[in-house]
Amino acid sequence: MRKTVSLFAFLVLSTIAYSQNPATADTSEVSYVVLKNATLIDAVSDTGKKGSLLIKGERIEALSYDRPITPPKGAVVYDLEGKYIIPGLIDAHVHITHGTLKEAQDQLQKALKAGITGVRDMGGDGRMLTLLQKNTKIGEDMGPDVFFSTIIAGPEFFAKDPRPQDVAKGAIAGQVPWVKAITDTTDLRQVIAEAKGLGATAIKVYLNIDKHLFKKVAAEAKRQHLKVWAHGVVPPTKPLDITKGGANVMSHAGSLIQYQMAKGPIKGRHDFESREKAAEWKAKLDAVKWDENTPEVVQLFEAMKKNHSILDATLFVYYYFKEDLKNMEEDALRQVDAFRAVTIAYDMGVKIGAGSDHMISEDGTLNLHTELKLLTTAGLSNIDALRAATIVNAEGLGEEKQIGTIESGKLANLVILNTDPLENIENTLDIKYVVKRGVIIP
Ligand SMILES: [Zn+2]
Repeated sequence: MRKTVSLFAFLVLSTIAYSQNPATADTSEVSYVVLKNATLIDAVSDTGKKGSLLIKGERIEALSYDRPITPPKGAVVYDLEGKYIIPGLIDAHVHITHGTLKEAQDQLQKALKAGITGVRDMGGDGRMLTLLQKNTKIGEDMGPDVFFSTIIAGPEFFAKDPRPQDVAKGAIAGQVPWVKAITDTTDLRQVIAEAKGLGATAIKVYLNIDKHLFKKVAAEAKRQHLKVWAHGVVPPTKPLDITKGGANVMSHAGSLIQYQMAKGPIKGRHDFESREKAAEWKAKLDAVKWDENTPEVVQLFEAMKKNHSILDATLFVYYYFKEDLKNMEEDALRQVDAFRAVTIAYDMGVKIGAGSDHMISEDGTLNLHTELKLLTTAGLSNIDALRAATIVNAEGLGEEKQIGTIESGKLANLVILNTDPLENIENTLDIKYVVKRGVIIP
């Protein structure tokens, strides 16, 4: 009885305190922002159109093209005459946990300022990713929303490669939920439930998984509502079996076709006794000639289109790490295998995503912007390059109902540009403001 009385007293007192302090009351009110007179490039239609946006809290409440929006009481209004608004960009291929937590936080902060409001981390330290995911979501860290996969691979990978141990410090790689070794007898329900428990969006199927096991993993992931991400090739499994097996996103356009055309088993780097032997095998593989009429090419891209497997091309990695490519003219670049594969895939209707696989360079450049430029070199229109980094990447995350376009009801993740990206894709770098979850980033 006494307890009830004191609880009652507490409630009364706290109600009084609340009503006497309007500042406290105000913080619970929703904020409104109006962005008016800008050209809205919503990524739904092919062109931009002049209009205004009303943001309520973290979401887009309304868009108006023909009449001005009457700002609600207390709304902050930005007149953006002459500016362009695009959906927030998503880098579909990053690895942010290879350094310290502080380094990851700094990198994410820079990414957000460069217009990147979402990242897809393709494998790292799950403990750090879970923390960064939470902190960036609630605004404790300034950064893009973090979506990530755990990595699963055959035990051979963990035996021969030092990299997974890097992200499993303090534990044993292969035995923790974010880098897990699996075989035919593994309880996949458990493995995928653990990934889900960490906050992962997907399972990345990495190496030494045959096509039968791949299919089993993908089916279980789907059952538990996780996505399946993979490289285009998962030795010994060829690209066609990756898409048929149920991959939602397939990374890396380089050598994709040659892997599909390979005679004999597909080998990974650990199947060779030395780096030289591996390079020799790869050079032979890459020497095979192909074009848009090669049956394997047609078959692969038709299957990817049919299965809705997105090609995360990562042209940037081929370009950036090869000096000869960096100095090439656009015409010559278009003849490089990875670029040719993207050109053909795009022409055949495969969805192309934009991922850098190297989010930020030493000099602080956010490489997603370069990836967009390279995708246009490979033939994507400017609007499709923008879509690659917005709605297509949102689909790869399974977040297409929340982000990726400018539509009412979606999260207000936006980039406000000084110049038109549909005129020149490099204008995505000409940023006036970034908006994440309704907050204008200073
Ligand atoms: Zn990667």
